[in-house]
Amino acid sequence: MRRSFLYNDDRYPMAFSVLRQCPSCGSKNRIPARHLSDSGRCGVCKSPLPPQNEPIEVDDSAFDEITREAKVPVLTDFWASWCGPCRAAAPEVQAVAKETAGKALVLKVNTEEHPQLSARFGVQSIPNFVVLRDGKVVLQRPGLAPRSEMRRWLEA
Ligand SMILES: [Zn+2]
Repeated sequence: MRRSFLYNDDRYPMAFSVLRQCPSCGSKNRIPARHLSDSGRCGVCKSPLPPQNEPIEVDDSAFDEITREAKVPVLTDFWASWCGPCRAAAPEVQAVAKETAGKALVLKVNTEEHPQLSARFGVQSIPNFVVLRDGKVVLQRPGLAPRSEMRRWLEA
């Protein structure tokens, strides 16, 4: 069993965090990168906070921090707003984030806003999916894929 972490804790100074609203008291909790896939407790009312269950839009530094700190595989969706297949992939990516909550993290990189990150992964066509484990690329696939296939990537 994983330990349960108390958020909003000064022992975790952080460059990147996700704000997650407590379903019980409505307080905003800052979730640091390394605890995104953990179940925790609200810093105010101590109610359980579920692990991250939706995609996170990231820039270069957030991407680096999350992929470095993650204890679970990370699926990254390289996309752009003008790309039709990317829009078709978006609900699949969203579903994967929900279905794999606690076991994987899902990131989204807007290739127009973050061209350097796209270049680093040699992204030439989008959508383009990269799976990282312990900060290393374990799989990369261009093109639209169904959620069932994305889930297999994360289990491989
Ligand atoms: Zn609360």
